[in-house]
Amino acid sequence: MVDETVFEVVDAGGCEQVVFCNHPPSGLRAIVAIHSTALGPALGGTRFYPFASERDALVDVCRLARGMTYKHAVCGNDLGGGKAVILGDPAKLRSEPLLRAYGRFVDGLAGRYLTAEDVGTTQADMDLVRRETPYVTGVSESLGGSGDPSPATAWGVLWAMRATAERLWGSPSLAGRHVCISGVGKVGAALAGHLADEGTKLTVADVDGAKASAIADRHGALVVGPEAAHTVGCDIFAPCALGAVLNRHSIGELGCAAVVGSANNQLATEADAERLADRGVLYAPDFVANAGGVMNIAEEPNGYDRDRAYERITTIHATLLEVFARADAERVTPSEAANRLAEERIHAVGQVKLLRGR
Ligand code: NAD
Repeated sequence: MVDETVFEVVDAGGCEQVVFCNHPPSGLRAIVAIHSTALGPALGGTRFYPFASERDALVDVCRLARGMTYKHAVCGNDLGGGKAVILGDPAKLRSEPLLRAYGRFVDGLAGRYLTAEDVGTTQADMDLVRRETPYVTGVSESLGGSGDPSPATAWGVLWAMRATAERLWGSPSLAGRHVCISGVGKVGAALAGHLADEGTKLTVADVDGAKASAIADRHGALVVGPEAAHTVGCDIFAPCALGAVLNRHSIGELGCAAVVGSANNQLATEADAERLADRGVLYAPDFVANAGGVMNIAEEPNGYDRDRAYERITTIHATLLEVFARADAERVTPSEAANRLAEERIHAVGQVKLLRGR
């Protein structure tokens, strides 16, 4: 830390608790951040990443944990916000002892934090964590989990697009509409499949040209370069790769009527929500549109049932319409309206939890 103390960084991130995990024999150095348990145990994935500094790791994990609080709250989960990071390059450091040591630390939190896979970790990693703790979600279906959340996330983005279409064009149908997907990895490829089934015209882009070509072959999509995806003239632009794609430069170049995608943290800054509104582009807040994965995981404690989970994910349609309506009524951006919706639920349901039971 150069200027700030550790507690100042944690306080700025608004976190309830931050846990540092150190296990030299396996090389594990991890940080778990619990932002809020007002609605339930904190749930969020474990990012395995070579952060430039320990400070960057701490700032990031607190920011990501906060984002999870809002995502769970707005989609109606009884879960709080948390996130974890393992410091280092997964290609060099990943090992059974490291992941099992990490599982032991998660176990020590006794259910205040539930983990899952995230950037740099895989379902196989979570299966190893599961050998040390029950407090891990998204493990293989053969181990009683709900498996990879990506197809559920794509299903939720589809319903967010339907809500956006209804709002803009008076009908939720995506038939004959043109969607440009940037990033056809696990979520983007599944989304392309759903849209092709709907009769939507597709354009796709990916830094991995083979992935874009595969979607072109399978669904007859057009392919553009990744740097041009946001400029494509289309009805909906779907960022399904990296964050911060909506910034002061890219917003001026958008060729779409709306942005609806799975990527986390699509806005580079909150001011970019205003920039989108000024350009007349309707923005579906990312944490509303991409909640399908965590809604799927939230069904695990009830005994996972895919049909029930997927039915619940369709409620993203109604939630997003509510966000758009509220944005109008209160003359704020959809992003701000979604934040308000989440904060109100945290406050109101948090009050209910103060009532004593037996
Ligand atoms: P993924 O790694 O499977 O896919 C990302 C794809 O984007 C890859 O094919 C990659 O080659 C491509 N890509 C990378 N940089 C790009 C660029 N500059 N332009 C175009 N393409 C680029 O990841 P995923 O699981 O499909 O997740 C996609 C996004 O959605 C991420 O931002 C992730 O955080 C977010 N998200 C995913 C889930 C989930 O359930 N997987 C849930 C919520 C949010």
